[in-house]
Amino acid sequence: MVTNTRRAARRHHEPDVVELNPVFARPGEATEIPKFRLPDEEALPATAYQIVHDEAMLDGNARLNLATFVGTWMDEHASRLYLEAADKNMIDKDEYPQTAAVETRCWTMLAELWHAPDPEHTIGTSTIGSSEAAMLGGLALKRRWQHARQAAGKPTDRPNLVLSSAVQVCWEKFCNYFEVEARYVPISWEHKVLDGYDLESYVDENTIGVVAIMGVTYTGMYEPVAEIAAALDRIQEATGLDVPIHVDGASGGMVAPFVQPDLAWDFRVPRVVSINTSGHKYGLVYPGLGWVVWRDLESLPDDLIFRVSYLGGDMPTFALNFSRPGAQVLLQYYLFIRLGRAGYTAVQQTSHDVALYLSGEIAKMPAFELWNDGSDIPVFAWRLREGHTSNWNLYHLSDRLRTKGWLVPAYPMPVDLTDVTVQRIVVRNGFSHDLASAFLADLRDEVDYLDALTGPMPAEGQRSGFHH
Ligand SMILES: *Cc1c(COP(=O)(O)O)cnc(C)c1O
Repeated sequence: MVTNTRRAARRHHEPDVVELNPVFARPGEATEIPKFRLPDEEALPATAYQIVHDEAMLDGNARLNLATFVGTWMDEHASRLYLEAADKNMIDKDEYPQTAAVETRCWTMLAELWHAPDPEHTIGTSTIGSSEAAMLGGLALKRRWQHARQAAGKPTDRPNLVLSSAVQVCWEKFCNYFEVEARYVPISWEHKVLDGYDLESYVDENTIGVVAIMGVTYTGMYEPVAEIAAALDRIQEATGLDVPIHVDGASGGMVAPFVQPDLAWDFRVPRVVSINTSGHKYGLVYPGLGWVVWRDLESLPDDLIFRVSYLGGDMPTFALNFSRPGAQVLLQYYLFIRLGRAGYTAVQQTSHDVALYLSGEIAKMPAFELWNDGSDIPVFAWRLREGHTSNWNLYHLSDRLRTKGWLVPAYPMPVDLTDVTVQRIVVRNGFSHDLASAFLADLRDEVDYLDALTGPMPAEGQRSGFHH
C-alpha cells in the first residue's frame, strides 16, 4: 500500500518534497521537507503540525462515506476521554489495572448480551478489531480440534475450516497464516448466504469448525446460524462428527441484539462456541477495537493463554499483539453506560429505518434491482437491472457520485458470481433521513445523466473499490 502510493507519486512526477506554505514558514526554517526520507533537521512543532494537518485534510469527508462500516464520529465527552487515555497500554495490566477491569466488564456485558450460559464465568478479550478477534477464535477452534484428535490417536496435520465464499478477508488470512485449509461454500442466487445447504460435502473429520457471518460484508445479510447448526446436527447424527460454530458478528453482533432481539444467532444456539464483533463498527467506537467472547472456559483451550503480571498476581491474556492502545476500551465502556440497551436500540433502529427507506426508494428506480434490502444489518446492495442499459455500469455511477462527494463502491461478488457487479450502502449512525434524501436526489440526477447518454461510457481503467 505504502510502496504503491510512492510508486504512483513517482509515476505522476509528484515532487519528493512537501513544500511549506510561506504563511507558515518561520524565518530560518527549511521551506521544503522530504516526503520519503527522514529529514536531516528538526522542524518547529507548529510547522510539523500544520503539515500533517494539511495532509490529513485531503482525506475524504467521512460523513459522505457510505462505504465504510467503521465509526467516524463520537461525541465531545468521548473525545475528551480519548485524549485523557491516549497513553494507556492495554497489555500493561499492572500499571493500568482499572483499564484492565473495565475491559473485563465490557466483554462480560457482551457475553450477557449474547446469552452466554454463565457470563461471569466465561472468557473474552478486547482486540484491535474483528480481524484479530477472528484469528483468536480460529486458533481456539484449531487447538480444540488438535487436542481431540491427539486424544483419539489421530493425525492433526490437515485441519480445514468451512466458510462462505463471501467471508471477509480476515478469514482468508487466518487460513493462510495458521495453515488451515479454507473450504469455501460458494454463494449463488439460490443460496445468497451460507445456509447449511450441501454442508455435508464440505465437513469431514478434519473440520475444525464452521464460520457463520452475522452481516456478510458484501451485502449485509445475516447467515442463518440456527439453520447451519441444524445442518451440523444432521451431520453429527449421520457421522458422529461434532463440529462447532464460530459466529463472525463483526457488524451484526452489535445490531441483532437490539434490532432483532428474538433472533437466536448467538450462544442460544448450543453449537456456537465463540463470537467476535468490531467495537469500531456498530459498537460505535473510533477505529482500533474488536471483541471476542467464548461460550465457556472449556471452549478456549488453556494452553493458548499466557499470564501477565497484574498487581502481584497474574492475569490471563490471549492476543496476537503485545502493546496496544487501551483508550478504545474505555471509549466502549463509556458508550455502554452512556447508551445502555435503550440507547443502542434507538441508534441502531434509526440506521435500520434509514436503510429500509433508502433501499425502498432505490428499488423503485427502473435502473436497479436490489440484492437485499438492509433489513438485517442496515447495509444493502443492488445491481443494474438486466437489459436496462449497455451505455453505463455501476462503476460509472460510482464515479459520478464521487464527484458529488459520495463514496458508494461498486464491486464484483465473490467466486462463482463474479459476473455480478453490485453497489453497496452502509448506513451508520449519523447518516440521517435528511442526508439520505440528499443522497437520493444526487443518485437520481446521476442516473438521469447516464441514462441520457447517446453512446456508451468508456470502460477503460475501471477498478472496483471494495471497502470493508
Ligand atoms: C469488517 C469485518 C471484519 C474485519 O473487521 P475489522 O474490525 O475491520 O478487523 C471481519 N468480518 C466481517 C464480517 C466484517 O464485516
